[in-house]
Amino acid sequence: MNLNTIMTKKITLRNLSKEPGCLAEYDPNSMSIDSAKKMIDSFIEPIKKTESVKLINSINRILAVDLISPINVPNYDNSAMDGFGFKFSSLKNTKTLNVKNKVLAGNLKINHIKDDEAIKIMTGGKIPNGVDTVIPIELVNYKNNQITFTEAPKVGSNIRKAGEDIRKKDIVLKKGTLIYPSQLGLIASLGFSKIKVFKKLKVGFFSTGDEIVQVGKKIKSGQVYDSNHFTIHSMLSRLNVECLDLEVIPDNKKIIKNTLKKLSNQADVIITSGGVSVGEADYMKEVLKEIGEVLFWKLAIKPGRPMAFGKIKNTDFFGLPGNPVSAMVTFYQIVQSALKIKMGSNLKQKIPTLKVECSESIFKKPGRTEFVRGILYESDGVWKVKTTGKQGSGILSSMSKANCFIVLTSNKRNVKPGEIVDVQLMESFV
Ligand code: AMP
Ligand code: MG
Repeated sequence: MNLNTIMTKKITLRNLSKEPGCLAEYDPNSMSIDSAKKMIDSFIEPIKKTESVKLINSINRILAVDLISPINVPNYDNSAMDGFGFKFSSLKNTKTLNVKNKVLAGNLKINHIKDDEAIKIMTGGKIPNGVDTVIPIELVNYKNNQITFTEAPKVGSNIRKAGEDIRKKDIVLKKGTLIYPSQLGLIASLGFSKIKVFKKLKVGFFSTGDEIVQVGKKIKSGQVYDSNHFTIHSMLSRLNVECLDLEVIPDNKKIIKNTLKKLSNQADVIITSGGVSVGEADYMKEVLKEIGEVLFWKLAIKPGRPMAFGKIKNTDFFGLPGNPVSAMVTFYQIVQSALKIKMGSNLKQKIPTLKVECSESIFKKPGRTEFVRGILYESDGVWKVKTTGKQGSGILSSMSKANCFIVLTSNKRNVKPGEIVDVQLMESFV
């Protein structure tokens, strides 16, 4: 049996968490990022609950139905140019036509012209019966209510036909489409004032650690401000989920257990940071064994080694590492795409990578995929990339300088200056 068995649902999360040896290539102590993603994505059940929202409020929501057009777009034949409309066959003997009337966009009265006549028509104007061709105003000589021109346009020129963009009953957007401004405009062009979207995911999250202190409080030596709370909250906010924010929980088995149990009754997804490795106060593993089915992994990535994924009742659980950069990297590289699936998105696209010249050397041992914080910059019109410097998994300042990750896959060794590397733009994650 191999990882693909999971895709066919022959192995359940329960079996795998109870007996990790039941799957041949499964190694929780050295999980590749691709295997972890594949496995998580296959165990995620997309949300089913839907709601109807006003179109104006539907940005960043996910369409819960195929959207079928109730109309043709455009819904009438109209002029693509400011010009003159006429019947092409009336040009048999002449390239001079009398202009009798005009149509502006929104003028619905003029329905017909006679043969051998032309009509002045503006962009978006409704094409009257009898007109099959429009010549742009720039190509005619217009004098004394007559037009003359030397070269006739092709028959049918400059007319936008009804239904040319979208035909009535066409599926315009598929269920699972994430609504961005262009989709919003498209839906509006069909006349919908409300649409059906998937309900927002409820994501409960908290940080763990006796040393973790909320911002605004005085810090003592040996304590750390809770930066993960802010990075995770903001990464979640950009995904437009509903946050159930529990801030910090101490390293106390009973409190962690009760909090997780309570949260699993309210949230679709729970995200925690800290306590998922094998330190003395890392209680997550014990607790989750009792109340859920959770897999604990050492990912073959850097930074971001320890991570947990599983379920508490029907709620998906992501246990991120406590180190601030590791928490962000695992969120961006693994959790984000899983949340999109959970939200009902049909987008299967990987994070896009660009090939860019690296202007400095990077030390790299084979064995782990490394996400090096990088700066993409322009030099003499060419885009290049360099690192942000120190790459420790707790060094958040280097994350804040970065605008990209340089992705060095598992087998890759040292990078020499001038070498082409793969780069992921941070802004492309959302
Ligand atoms: P842990 O994963 O709990 O072993 O924590 C690993 C490291 O990350 C420790 O140095 C923690 O102090 C630090 N850390 C854990 N949680 C947070 C947090 N919420 N904010 C900032 N640093 C944290
Ligand atoms: Mg800890």
